[in-house]
Amino acid sequence: MLIHIGIDDTDSPNGMCTTYLGALLYKEISRLAEPIDLPKLIRLNPNVPYKTRGNGAVAMSFEADEEDIPKIKALVLERVKELADFSHENTNPGIAFLEGNIPKELEDFTFRAIREHVSIGEAEKVAKDINAEIHKFKCGRGIIGALAAIGHPLKVFTYELLAYRKRKLWGKERKVKAESVFEMDKKFYPFTYDNVDWEKKSVLITPRGKDPVLAGIRGIDKNKVLLAFESLIFEEPIEFLQIFKTNQSTDDHLKFKQIKDLRNFDSVIVRGKVVKAYWEVGRHVFFKISDGTGELRVAAYEPTKRFRKYVRELIEGDEIIAAGGVKEFEGELTLNLEKFYVVSLAKKIEYKKPKCPKCGGTMKSKGDYLKCKKCGHKMPKVLIPVEVPRKLERKIYEVPPDARRHLSRPLVLPLGEEKILDMLNL
Ligand code: ATP
Repeated sequence: MLIHIGIDDTDSPNGMCTTYLGALLYKEISRLAEPIDLPKLIRLNPNVPYKTRGNGAVAMSFEADEEDIPKIKALVLERVKELADFSHENTNPGIAFLEGNIPKELEDFTFRAIREHVSIGEAEKVAKDINAEIHKFKCGRGIIGALAAIGHPLKVFTYELLAYRKRKLWGKERKVKAESVFEMDKKFYPFTYDNVDWEKKSVLITPRGKDPVLAGIRGIDKNKVLLAFESLIFEEPIEFLQIFKTNQSTDDHLKFKQIKDLRNFDSVIVRGKVVKAYWEVGRHVFFKISDGTGELRVAAYEPTKRFRKYVRELIEGDEIIAAGGVKEFEGELTLNLEKFYVVSLAKKIEYKKPKCPKCGGTMKSKGDYLKCKKCGHKMPKVLIPVEVPRKLERKIYEVPPDARRHLSRPLVLPLGEEKILDMLNL
């Protein structure tokens, strides 16, 4: 008998991690039943407000003897009750069990949970329709992620190896030799990626919070992920490790929409023309696009750092395809930019002072006339339009790795540009 288990919303900023609980359970249940595959780490809509960090949920599937199924379910319930951080107001665990094959209806629900906002009621309805068993703790919002993780077919996927820490070290500084991570990146990039930021000279594989994760290695090749991990030097003991199959770096969340159809928390791709070039509020950079159905404010927020310099190069009339998350900001729907593709660039005209017609010297503005600095010749101020070269190219620009969504496909990976370029064939 095939049994699928989904878990979500067990952690808080104060500790725990749903992947840790999932990895523990995967090991324990594997003693009772035959795992069908690696456990799944499914990232859901990155724009929902309830997430602790990366809106991840975990699912796993086993072939089990019918009489062991109650034991398996009891084990999952016991571990969640024991380990979930119930003290935090925003932790609302949910568990889902489904026996047999995965119905299409659940897969459809999964992709809605990745791209839009869904309600607990909608999750309950799907569970009832497909005969899934759900367990809600507190408000039980976790059933959304628990069901969605079961329903993901993972036709396209990457891997993440997660190494966990000894319990006594949770909350303490993570001890990984930085040089070994840079060496690993030199050897294994891009088969493993997002290991380091070479520009900032920072290590990206270690999270910052109090959770049990020591390090995570992402990659497209399971063996290389493992070899990369083995090449690292850790200065603290490792509790255990687990490789997950995941929809990270697949662009799963991006779906084309027209501006008139956008709703708060959507993850989307839109195509439009710049109708207002950039302006800045603090260190955030904004501009506006229109696709004929409406106008949309687009933002490159401060954490996107050097990406903002490309956004500042966009001018009115440029046509772009933009991908990101829609969120209300100061009462207005705003696209939080993950990447953009330049479809066409408008001509950039700057008005320059002519050279002195008498001596070729440099002219200086004096109110509404020009005066030569060399010979003093005066003439009415008539500026000459000059086309200046554009600094942008017809390509995709993406945010740096530490500002990138888990779901966003890095351009360095095969097909990294595919989803956004598909929009050109509309
Ligand atoms: P971590 O990445 O450390 O596991 P997290 O960022 O995954 O933490 P959760 O604690 O899992 O955060 O909280 C996310 C909550 O949002 C869960 O209850 C999940 O069921 C719910 N959720 C996920 N996707 C959606 C969606 N599309 N619409 C509404 N709720 C969602």
